[in-house]
Amino acid sequence: MSIKKVTSHPTQNEGLIFERSQTGRVGYRLPKLDVDEIPFDDLLPANLRRDDDLDGVPEVSEIDVVRHFTRISTWNYSIDLGMYPLGSCTMKYNSRLNEKVARIPGFAGLHPLAPEEESQGALELIYKLQEDLCEITGLPGISLQPAAGAQGEMTGVMLIRAFLDARDGDASKDRRIMLIPESAHGTNPASAALAGFTVKAIRATADGLTDMEHLRELCDAGGVAGVMFTNPNTVGIFEKNIKEICDTIHAAGGLVYMDGANMNALVGIARPGDMGVDVIHLNLHKTFSTPHGGGGPGCGPCLCSDELKPFLPTPRIEKEGDRYFLNYDIPTSIGRVKAFYGNFGMMVRALSYIYTHGNDGLKEATEAAVLNARYISHLLSDTFDKPYAGDCMHEAIFSHKNQAKKGVVTLDIAKRLIDYGFHPMTVYFPLVVEGAMLIEPTESVGRSDLDAFIEAMKDIDAEAQSDPELVINAPHSTRIGRLDEATAARKPVLRWKPDMETFSKSA
Ligand SMILES: *Cc1c(COP(=O)(O)O)cnc(C)c1O
Repeated sequence: MSIKKVTSHPTQNEGLIFERSQTGRVGYRLPKLDVDEIPFDDLLPANLRRDDDLDGVPEVSEIDVVRHFTRISTWNYSIDLGMYPLGSCTMKYNSRLNEKVARIPGFAGLHPLAPEEESQGALELIYKLQEDLCEITGLPGISLQPAAGAQGEMTGVMLIRAFLDARDGDASKDRRIMLIPESAHGTNPASAALAGFTVKAIRATADGLTDMEHLRELCDAGGVAGVMFTNPNTVGIFEKNIKEICDTIHAAGGLVYMDGANMNALVGIARPGDMGVDVIHLNLHKTFSTPHGGGGPGCGPCLCSDELKPFLPTPRIEKEGDRYFLNYDIPTSIGRVKAFYGNFGMMVRALSYIYTHGNDGLKEATEAAVLNARYISHLLSDTFDKPYAGDCMHEAIFSHKNQAKKGVVTLDIAKRLIDYGFHPMTVYFPLVVEGAMLIEPTESVGRSDLDAFIEAMKDIDAEAQSDPELVINAPHSTRIGRLDEATAARKPVLRWKPDMETFSKSA
């Protein structure tokens, strides 16, 4: 693999911006001075000036910069480019209207330290989003502070911990076991561990549901602080024993945490609060159409029952008469989990999504999301191995069993999908299914896109049967083929060195 040094190319192949640099080239030119030049020393004392010559900073013109970044922006697959069937992540369309609303200057330019009287509109917006999310989940307490689902989870388990400590006093230390299904997202055990709990895994049944007998056994053994489970679970199946799961945990003195990453299968139809759930997080960047950013500003609201409300983070956005205010005075609170009030821009977009859909629209989106996943699940079930017989909810799961006989595994199928113009599905998650392919179309795709995806998957299967090498060596259409991912992760090339010989060797 080498990065070609071309200035422009129909494939928009592109070297690094450093390679475009030409000594002395600038992006601006100022007119000649028509006043006396002020000696440098009078402008800036010598000890505050740098004396090196900015070695290594690319010297390029404005158009070089614009074209460079425009070209490399085309290398990326994005939600605006095509279907993004990444299971568990709910990659739905982010509507332009959300963006327009988020750019209203009064929202976009508001300083986070602006006084309450001058930010009533923003506080009202946060308050209204809180009310709507409470209504959607059936849980009365909420904090919008957490910046991601994982942080919402951590906040949620911290609430459980604070509640148990307040309820049980010293005896709380004997209740430190968090039960988590084997199929859980990795963030669940991580959050539990961070809040001081020990994790015990709950087995699943052959049809992909929580094994109730095992759950009861684990509860009988004592010390259970609670359970963290996902519904629909990570194999896309609705936990139909949800009420019984909650009752069992409550009877054992524990609390129920629901990972709400899969709420796209429930919004407008069923409410976790009504099922007996005590705490949940949402991912606004999944269910409520705000942008996913690689570790960037997201929003993972944490919602809870009345019992857990006293422990929610501060400040709380509250209302007195017509006035909104920030309440910092809650001694039982676990404290702040994020600077200021969380990522406000995400809240604006999520409320825009909720208002543009309305009650009926949100319900329809859920129905379409489930229908789309079932359509894929049904039409691919003759071609790909379906590990669970039941109907899926918002995501379809398959394994590579039928293709692995020819040496073609999940990774190969995912890479080949790129050649067909699709973003790969989620691969090898959840771990309970060997060679898992988790496909979530969301409500954003129409029938013709679904059919094109299904056809691509069937074509890839046909290739796997007749010409496995073609799939095993995919992708064939990308700038860079298959990466040596282990080496890329272990020995990343993070610095550009002027000598291109050494650069291409180390790359
Ligand atoms: C995405 C996801 C999370 C974590 O959410 P982030 O917003 O990525 O931190 C947790 N659980 C499940 C099931 C998820 O899909």
